[in-house]
Amino acid sequence: MEVACCIAGCGPAGAVLGLLLARAGVDVLVLEKHADFLRDFRGDTLHPSTLQLFDELGLGDRLLELPHQEAEVLSVTTDDGDFTLADFRRLPGRHRYLAFMPQWDFLDFVVAEARRLPGFELRMRAEALGVLEEDGRVAGLAYRDQDGAAHQVRARLTVAADGRDSSLRRSAGLRPRMFGAPMDVLWFRLPRHPADGRQTFGRLAAGHLLVLIERGGYWQVAYLIAKGAMDELRQAGLDRLRASIAGLVPFLGDRVQALRTWDDVRVLRVQVDRLRRWFRPGLLCIGDAAHAMSPVGGVGINLAVHDAVAAANLLARPLRDGSLSTWHLARVQLRRTLPTVVVQWGQRTIQDRFLSPLLEGRLGTGPPGVLELLRRYPVLQGVPARLVGLGILPEHVRSPTADDYLRPSARAGV
Ligand SMILES: Cc1cc2nc3c(=O)[nH]c(=O)nc-3n(C[C@H](O)[C@H](O)[C@H](O)COP(=O)(O)OP(=O)(O)OC[C@H]3O[C@@H](n4cnc5c(N)ncnc54)[C@H](O)[C@@H]3O)c2cc1C
Repeated sequence: MEVACCIAGCGPAGAVLGLLLARAGVDVLVLEKHADFLRDFRGDTLHPSTLQLFDELGLGDRLLELPHQEAEVLSVTTDDGDFTLADFRRLPGRHRYLAFMPQWDFLDFVVAEARRLPGFELRMRAEALGVLEEDGRVAGLAYRDQDGAAHQVRARLTVAADGRDSSLRRSAGLRPRMFGAPMDVLWFRLPRHPADGRQTFGRLAAGHLLVLIERGGYWQVAYLIAKGAMDELRQAGLDRLRASIAGLVPFLGDRVQALRTWDDVRVLRVQVDRLRRWFRPGLLCIGDAAHAMSPVGGVGINLAVHDAVAAANLLARPLRDGSLSTWHLARVQLRRTLPTVVVQWGQRTIQDRFLSPLLEGRLGTGPPGVLELLRRYPVLQGVPARLVGLGILPEHVRSPTADDYLRPSARAGV
């Protein structure tokens, strides 16, 4: 099989790139190894800059018709009271909030839009196995279908959007630089009662950080543990975890039994890494395959989507007219390096200066000084909102639509 572009992985990066290239009239085949998108506890936060991109595509209103929750402020509760960390109402633009939307709904939506376009094809239960090489360049990939049969796809451009354990980038000999992280995250659900009445918030106490994301009928809870501490926690027993949750957030005490076994608790192995080179001739890595992000700030999806938009902006025309060169791929990395480096630097600073001492119980008593500062000068609450919500160098949709290639007379129907 031969296509202009073959994308491995239909997460946020692969799905959005597939949509944008098909919209520009490029033939694109997306391969996804799972049968559906129904995986719990993935990145679910859509930031204002990402919502803005969907507005630019004319899809923003329809996207927001899907069930979601909106958080206008992010706050944290300490033993000394409540503090506001970020106030998104201080942002410019139409979307002054974070939207929490299940990732499967988001991906179903993007794929449904892409499927309306003639050049888009998605194959589920198709696992990319590795790149095909020809004269020193990547000329496509090999994949296994749902029946276990192996196939080859030849493509002008192969994109690794297969996440942070990308097998495609490994097969192409690209190795990320690992930065390490001091923590892992436990994710679980607890029932939410109408009287709980709190928006998404964090609970900070000596040795602990817990984040409660309001998901309509339930709380999605992130519970930070020191890296590698899971075995110890398991040995201590589930009751110890339940008691810790109830101690931190007393109103959850009456429902911690909803955690019946350890199967109700997922562990996110936090990983921060980045490729030195995101490309080889014929191959580009984007999203987590190019840079795994820490969960700090919940920016993973948004960076992945913005990578996809930058790639489509820079590659759609050369892919369509057959002039794609390695220089075009290098420009995608050039464009996206600054936002990635800055965000990872910020995340690592927060991990090393704050989360690591917190989890080791080395943090002094009383709220961190920065929280006091944000409380005293509320205008500063717009700064974290801007960094998280809009990010650095947010992308805008500039890739063409297929109609842009038609002669003006054809566009006018003459
Ligand atoms: C538990 C958890 C919580 C998170 N919380 C947040 C959050 O709150 N906010 C946020 O913004 N980010 C969060 N993230 C990170 C966020 O999910 C990722 O940064 C984002 O999904 C990256 O998008 P991606 O498309 O690059 O990769 P992924 O979302 O990882 O998508 C990769 C896709 O490729 C598929 N795939 C993998 N290998 C192959 C293969 N060989 N062949 C074909 N398909 C393949 C996978 O099935 C997957 O669908 C979280 C991540 C996890 C794991």
